[in-house]
Amino acid sequence: MRKPIIAGNWKMFKTRDEALAFVYAVNEKLPSIDVVDTVICAPFVVLRCLVKRQGDNLRIGAQNMHYEEKGAFTGEIAPQMLTSLDVSYVIIGHSERRAMFNETDETVNKKLHAAFKYGLTPILCVGEHLEERENGQTEEVIKNQLVKDLEGLSKKEVKDLVIAYEPIWAIGTGKTATAEIADETCGFIRKMIASLYDEETSSAIRIQYGGSVKVSNIEELMKMPNIDGALIGGASLVAEDFIYFANVAKKYTEQ
Ligand code: PGA
Repeated sequence: MRKPIIAGNWKMFKTRDEALAFVYAVNEKLPSIDVVDTVICAPFVVLRCLVKRQGDNLRIGAQNMHYEEKGAFTGEIAPQMLTSLDVSYVIIGHSERRAMFNETDETVNKKLHAAFKYGLTPILCVGEHLEERENGQTEEVIKNQLVKDLEGLSKKEVKDLVIAYEPIWAIGTGKTATAEIADETCGFIRKMIASLYDEETSSAIRIQYGGSVKVSNIEELMKMPNIDGALIGGASLVAEDFIYFANVAKKYTEQ
C-alpha cells in the first residue's frame, strides 16, 4: 500500500511571520507521518524557521534548487544547502519554472540526480498545455517528459520519487481536471514507469495530482486508484484547508 502524500506549494507567498503562524496552526492537527506524508514547500528564506518549528508529522521542502554543489551561480541555492537545514523535499520542474525560468527537461534531469545524490526527495512535476490536451497529445507530451527527466535514474531512486501530474491548464485557473481525467493520466504515468522500469517500481512510486485542488474536490481525487495525494498551490496557504486535505488523505489510507 502506498502512503499518501499531501504537499503544499506556497510559491512566492507568505512572510516569515505568516509562515510561522501557519506551522503553529497545523502542527498538532496533522495525521501521523506513519499514515500520511505532509509537506510544505516554502520560499527559501523561511525554510530554516519552518524546519525548526515543524511538528513531528510535518516535513519541509524547497520549490527549486540548482544541480551544482557550489559555484559562481549568483542567486542560486545548492542541494546541500537545503540538506544542511534539514529540508527533506524539493519540487523539481514545476510548470511555472519551465515556462518562466527556462527550466528544461535536461536541467530537470540534472536536478533529479543531484536531489538523490544529496538525500532529498524530489517531487517531479509533469503535465500538458490545454492545446496539447485538446489535440490528443497528452500522453505523448508526458511520455517525452518522463523519458528525458528520468534518464539514468536507478529503480531504487524512482521508487522513492514522487511525481505530480499537473495539467498546466488547471494550475491556478480554478479549472480542476475531473477526477476521471486526473486518474487516467496518473494511470498512464504509472504504466510508463512500468515500461521504463518494472511493475514493482511502478506500483511503489507515488503519483500526486495538482491543479486547483480545493476542499470541495480533494475527496473525489483521493478516491481514485492511481492518485496517491495532491500538490496544492493556492489552497495550501490556508492552515485549516491544509489540515483538511491531510485528513482526507488519511481516510483513504485506512480504507
Ligand atoms: P494551484 O497550484 O493549486 O494553485 O492550482 C498547483 C501547483 O502549481 O502546484
